[in-house]
Amino acid sequence: MNQHRPRQASPPAESLERFAAEKLAALEAQHLRRRLEETARADGVQVVRGGRPMISFSCNDYLNLSNHPAVVAAAKAALDKYGAGAGASRLVTGNHPLYAELEGKLARMKRTEAACVFGSGYLANIGIVPALMGEGDLIVLDELGHACMHAGARLARATVMLFPHNDIETAGALLAEHRPRHRHCLILTETVFSMDGDRAPIAGLARLAAAHDAWLMTDDAHGFGVLPASERDDYDMVPLKMGTLSKAVGVYGGYLCASRAVVELVENRARSFIYTTGLPPPAVAAASAALDAIENTPGLAGAPLAKARLFTDRAGLAPAQSSVVPVVLGAAERALEASRALADQGFLVVAIRPPTVPENTARLRIAFSAGHEDADVIRLAEAVRAILPN
Ligand SMILES: *Cc1c(COP(=O)(O)O)cnc(C)c1O
Repeated sequence: MNQHRPRQASPPAESLERFAAEKLAALEAQHLRRRLEETARADGVQVVRGGRPMISFSCNDYLNLSNHPAVVAAAKAALDKYGAGAGASRLVTGNHPLYAELEGKLARMKRTEAACVFGSGYLANIGIVPALMGEGDLIVLDELGHACMHAGARLARATVMLFPHNDIETAGALLAEHRPRHRHCLILTETVFSMDGDRAPIAGLARLAAAHDAWLMTDDAHGFGVLPASERDDYDMVPLKMGTLSKAVGVYGGYLCASRAVVELVENRARSFIYTTGLPPPAVAAASAALDAIENTPGLAGAPLAKARLFTDRAGLAPAQSSVVPVVLGAAERALEASRALADQGFLVVAIRPPTVPENTARLRIAFSAGHEDADVIRLAEAVRAILPN
């Protein structure tokens, strides 16, 4: 009776509504307001947005594994066997049998003793950094490091110093000056930078780390599966290999590959590992099957880089260093216009604006996947050439 009556909406708090409306209006005025656009992805390439079929160059599913038949089948089988959710934190009862297999594969592929899987890459970074660093410690971080590296560094309550992007010399000067006054030191960078597509000087940073007794951690979100093994020799010099299962692996989750002791310490201390529910079994099974596909398909890892190089060659740009090619246009409005112009030709290339990238560097971020047809890559290169600043 009473409980079947439709409930009254809660009354809006006037100051709250005003706050939200004013903030949104300010973003709108700067061309920085973002909106969720419904996007149906049939694979990593063909999408439908606003009723319009488009070819996406904005997905991080670099190997198109999110829809790979073996990956989907593994998810379905896990769903039938273990259900839709983990039921608890991994340290309680959420550590279902699929985790050991996934972590074993990750450790093997990354050539470390052990691995631990987090709920996402974001959760991994905000958990690992404070698990290793605290007050009295020093974190030296590339200024273009991902938002979750900055968040992890803040949560650690350590001294945080940023060095200019990929500038080993300045990083070295910071270490020389500040390292002696701190107990432990962590150097943080990405292997491949998410918005610029360039690579970190890993070997140089590893040498700095050795010289200053610092620990080097890299975020491999855009390197794994994208760069061929032949271009990753320096990666073995990194003791803390963090990454995500949400990009080239095509599913969801994050990880740290490191020594057994470090992994066990992180499992004991990382709050975003301890106080959150385990991943759904289908996600873990799917990621595991995706790793098999990467290992067992010759030439798959590295294919996105080849597509990106075809693009930069045809567009007259410097050779791509990864699957991500930025076209920096400056003002947010210009990036939005360029994105709309490409949309009119059937290409989905999302404009990336501050605060995701620094002020006045709004850009098109073009992401290539193994599944792109060469003909489409070439057509896009011609379309981009036409809008490039001269
Ligand atoms: C996407 C990304 C993350 C976050 O990974 P998720 O699994 O999506 O949470 C972390 N670091 C970098 C560099 C990324 O690009």
